[in-house]
Amino acid sequence: MKRRTFMRCIGCGAVATAVAQTELLPEFLGGMQNACAFDYSENLASVEARYYKKLDGGGVECQICPRHCMVTDLERGYCGTRENRDGTYYTLVYGKACALNIDPIEKKPLYHFHPGTTALSVATAGCNCNCKFCQNWDISQSRPEQTKNFDLSPDDMVEICRTRSVPNIAYTYSEPVIFYEYMYDTAKRAHEAGIKSVMITGGYIDDKPLAELLPHLDAVKVDLKGIREAYYRDVVGAKLQPVLDRLVQIRRAGVWLELVYLVVPTLNDSDAEFTDLARWIKANLGTDVPVHFSKFHPQYLLKNLPATPLATLERAYDVSRAEGLEYVYVGNVPGHRTESTFCPGCGEVVIERKGYRVRGINIDGNACRSCSRTIPGIF
Ligand code: SF4
Ligand code: SF4
Repeated sequence: MKRRTFMRCIGCGAVATAVAQTELLPEFLGGMQNACAFDYSENLASVEARYYKKLDGGGVECQICPRHCMVTDLERGYCGTRENRDGTYYTLVYGKACALNIDPIEKKPLYHFHPGTTALSVATAGCNCNCKFCQNWDISQSRPEQTKNFDLSPDDMVEICRTRSVPNIAYTYSEPVIFYEYMYDTAKRAHEAGIKSVMITGGYIDDKPLAELLPHLDAVKVDLKGIREAYYRDVVGAKLQPVLDRLVQIRRAGVWLELVYLVVPTLNDSDAEFTDLARWIKANLGTDVPVHFSKFHPQYLLKNLPATPLATLERAYDVSRAEGLEYVYVGNVPGHRTESTFCPGCGEVVIERKGYRVRGINIDGNACRSCSRTIPGIF
């Protein structure tokens, strides 16, 4: 789709807020795709990748994420989005969006980052993990030729934000690490235009590409999926330690960080795990990092398990608070008492939420209006 045509389309479309699927693009366009001659592009990008090493014999070693895929000619890495062509490594998804929505920032979830604002949320096909609970598996586990993609440049995204008064861009839904170059260029361009960028990620990325990216990001939400290596190996298909290292790196860089822990019945829901998780966070990140305990719904490869009982989520909450974490939330349970932010000093509600809606903000700058205690975040 030509940029001008696309901009005309979204100019007349309504906004969708559902979870990303390939079908959401026409929803985002307000069902106007026919009137606007909407034309999905199934072609792939050919933009040279960053962070790879050429090997003797024509192979390459990708250095974006801890997998360090060794890729021979005409083959792809694990994520299926990067291809070796005659010794040069290419990303196939640069500028090839397969999902686009305008979401509340609370949906990411980011609770201490410009509450009540929205984020233009974008994804491409592919992921460098294979979580058995993935809710967006239809795009995360697809190759880019299996999704409906359309051309959307970094400039296009900035233009959408400008015309629709959206202050943030979120790289989300699948795993933005695998569209690193696209995210990087967009975040850089967005900053030049005064638009903020947030990365919603599993944190499975190498330290150098992350270090280069962080100055262009304003917030990061990491899904810390468990606190046991065995869980990462068996359920995520990855390793835990690199994720823990990246969390420390993000925190040290001073970029706003929030964590989500998806509580999966029988797999990562013991008191011992909740305790170890809270203690690790306290020791390595501090007690003021928001932690969201999120409700699991049976899907993808874990349809055999029940949804997380509320009592389990509240147990995770209680254990974490008892260990000293100050900003703990129960997620995916609309109306739950913990979805608002309470001042740890005086106990007053400082950010009142109902579902994804912010109903009131009782802070001045970063100070609680009741007791002046500093509430961490970017407000
Ligand atoms: S980004 Fe993709 S190709 Fe590169 S190391 Fe990770 S999984 Fe492999
Ligand atoms: S890292 Fe995220 S997108 Fe990738 S498989 Fe896991 S849950 Fe899905």
